[in-house]
Amino acid sequence: MTNGVVIIGAGHAGVQAAASLREEGFSGPVTLVGDENELPYHKPPLSKAFLKDTQAKPQMLRAEAFYTGADIGLRFGHRVAAIDTAARQLVFDDSAKLGFDRLILATGSRPRALPLDGAILAGVFSLRTVADARAIRDHAAAAENVVVLGGGFIGLEIAATLAAGGRRVTVVEAQDRLLGRAVAPAVSAHVAGRLAASGVRLLMRTTVERLDGENGHVLAVTTSAGEHIPADMVLVGIGAVPSTELAEAAGLAVTNGIRVDPQMRTSVPEILAIGDAVNYLHWQTGADVRLESVQNSTDQAKLAARTLTGHDDPYTAVPWFWSDIGDMKLQMVGLPGASDRTVLAGDPTENRFSAFHYAGDRLTAIESVNRPADHMMGRKMLAAGFSPTPEQVAAGDLKDTFARWQSAGSPPP
Ligand code: ADP
Repeated sequence: MTNGVVIIGAGHAGVQAAASLREEGFSGPVTLVGDENELPYHKPPLSKAFLKDTQAKPQMLRAEAFYTGADIGLRFGHRVAAIDTAARQLVFDDSAKLGFDRLILATGSRPRALPLDGAILAGVFSLRTVADARAIRDHAAAAENVVVLGGGFIGLEIAATLAAGGRRVTVVEAQDRLLGRAVAPAVSAHVAGRLAASGVRLLMRTTVERLDGENGHVLAVTTSAGEHIPADMVLVGIGAVPSTELAEAAGLAVTNGIRVDPQMRTSVPEILAIGDAVNYLHWQTGADVRLESVQNSTDQAKLAARTLTGHDDPYTAVPWFWSDIGDMKLQMVGLPGASDRTVLAGDPTENRFSAFHYAGDRLTAIESVNRPADHMMGRKMLAAGFSPTPEQVAAGDLKDTFARWQSAGSPPP
């Protein structure tokens, strides 16, 4: 291979793919292309610790010396305008070209835009990059009234952080519960109760009708219920859309994400795709999914590197995810999919409990609030295909139960 592997996207997925190619023994050229002018950094802290501490710096995914040492070429601050699949080359927006033998798309996702005229007012933010997080942090320093649109993970993490910092925060959520896409009603209700008790105002079944401004700066939000809420800052966290434009223009199959097979190959075999931007048939649920998580990005990156070094393993990683919302550490493992029963362990009044989801007798997912041991056990049990009974969950000795099952030769559940 003379041009080697080129990776578009220098987030969690792209950086891991570059590192894993070297770990798998790939010795040809590896080039990592990204449109930001920053050394790649961890994204999860941007809605949490980074916003709290005005002195906090982004945490690098890898030190600069790593890329030099592993001979990974970096092209940061450049946008790819097109992929020429026939000529196997990328065309940058300054018309520069870069050839590839194999390409990995790790283009990620970006915040869904608010379809309102007022969305362009100063003081209206969404969060994706460290540049966005810096702008939010600077602006929040002088803000009193903050309106957060969307009661998903991003919105609630920011709402809790800014409320703890003394801002008056209102969350506007279209659905009838928070985190509706991600957790069971019992967890939504718990999160809502604690946020409300910490002073965050929650408006459910509500959207935004209008953003009003003066001299180009946001001043207030008018809700679908007609309420006028003063706001010197508005945060938009209404979901993410996959960045698939390059793939679509290049003729790759795209349906809510770039379609990939279990080895991360797109419909053009020399092009792979990984991370938030991809859609695939999930091995556990048998349904198409597009997951936005560090775990999914990292594990798919590792697998793509194996595919490109001659292996054929399918993607079978157990999905997991976490979020810190105020004093709640939420951890999710598995995909609830078509679950028909939920068993609670622990005590919500102590802010420590887990919801175990079942489809029949099969454990499908666990959502934990401040119960990290359940989460860690969940990762092991789901990877091994073990389902504890609800009685075993209630008895609280999952570690021993799982160990006994393993030492009995892992009989099928
Ligand atoms: P994110 O990654 O932005 O947190 P999620 O999909 O987890 O994405 O959460 C987005 C939340 O925003 C969902 O709870 C969804 O119901 C809510 N939402 C979407 N559109 C609107 C809107 N126009 N106004 C208020 N809430 C919205």
